[in-house]
Amino acid sequence: MTETTTGQALYDTAARLFPICRSITGDGVRQSLAVLREVAPIEAVEIPSGAPILDWTAPKEWNIRDAWIKNAAGERVVDFRANNLHILQYSTPVRATLPLAELKKHIFTIPAEPDLIPYRTSYYSERWGFCMAQRALDALPDGDYEVCVDSTLADGALTYGELVLPGEIEDEILISAHICHPSLANDNCAGLSVAAHLAAALAQEKRRHTFRFLFAPGTVGAIAWLAQNEARAHRIKHGLVVSGVGDAGAPTYKRTRRGDAPVDRAMAHVLSLAGPNARVIDFSPYGYDERQYNSPGFLLDVGLFQRSEFGQFREYHTSADNLDFIAPEHMADSFAALRAGIDILERNRTMLNLQPKGEPQLGRRGLYAAIGGDKDSYSKNMAMLWTLNLSDGKHTLLDIATRAKLPFATIADIAAVLEKAELLRETA
Ligand code: ZN
Repeated sequence: MTETTTGQALYDTAARLFPICRSITGDGVRQSLAVLREVAPIEAVEIPSGAPILDWTAPKEWNIRDAWIKNAAGERVVDFRANNLHILQYSTPVRATLPLAELKKHIFTIPAEPDLIPYRTSYYSERWGFCMAQRALDALPDGDYEVCVDSTLADGALTYGELVLPGEIEDEILISAHICHPSLANDNCAGLSVAAHLAAALAQEKRRHTFRFLFAPGTVGAIAWLAQNEARAHRIKHGLVVSGVGDAGAPTYKRTRRGDAPVDRAMAHVLSLAGPNARVIDFSPYGYDERQYNSPGFLLDVGLFQRSEFGQFREYHTSADNLDFIAPEHMADSFAALRAGIDILERNRTMLNLQPKGEPQLGRRGLYAAIGGDKDSYSKNMAMLWTLNLSDGKHTLLDIATRAKLPFATIADIAAVLEKAELLRETA
């Protein structure tokens, strides 16, 4: 695979998404899809509010233009336009003046992290509220405050983005990222960017599988897609939820419910070569939309790729998850890991050694010469010997790569060379 996507390009897309106030519905989702469409031709799908989606209902659409709290002097002491985390997501409209003690009933802080603004939502009970730093709240003098939430909560649509890249076979690989958080860089913008750039890269290549990319609001978006595609969802044979892929934490892969699916083995192999801190963790029915895809009525083999583990880092769901918390090199590393995992799903196969009695004479066939002088020639020689030795029709190329502790791509490339030299053939 050629590699042209840079960490800076991945970061720049995330940075463009960052200021947009996304929620589970509304214009922020549409604006975000417009940004992503500059990377890959993602289509927007709109599900009308009130439509039944599995056991759920498509929610009302929420849009917000402005929100603030003003002091007696008319100064904005909390300003949505300065940071969109200040609004409780799905706040109903309000215009009122009330004393500080009453106002506090509508304010969310993190007392243990007094300088951070929390991210809070109230999708399913109608109310209004603000989020702010505890220290800023403590600094407010008693008195009356004017509040304004200029929002609408009305029938509209739930929007998600979808892109299909047809392959040679109908079996699909799903890449899914959530598109419902406001200004949170790692827990939203990074995953959206990496997924869109993966789509752009794969669009340029010959594909065996059909690839489906979803950019859907968390939970209801995945449920809406499953409801719309119930009859065809079984075509998804492998999948990855991509989330939290921009921070400095080591890569972490969360297995599918099945636990030993091809995508689990592919990502375990990639992470086995990704440094001492890379981790593979077990499935649990909490986290991102892998919960929906792995529900018992669908049982799609979809794992989760992330860096720092969901919910386990200080910056999670706070104003500290900003553009300083993610970096181009971490995004590039995540992108490369996902590409390597996808490459395994695309190219893994089982070969048979056609000269299994003793080692075949490689020099006579020009096979040492074919790789001589290559700076990786030692590992390529080892890859050739391992591939010949284990190609007994029982071991896949991934099995061989895992046993040899060599990158899958090295084994798969060597297998292609040996196949051309008529030393290997693919088993049926
Ligand atoms: Zn989140």
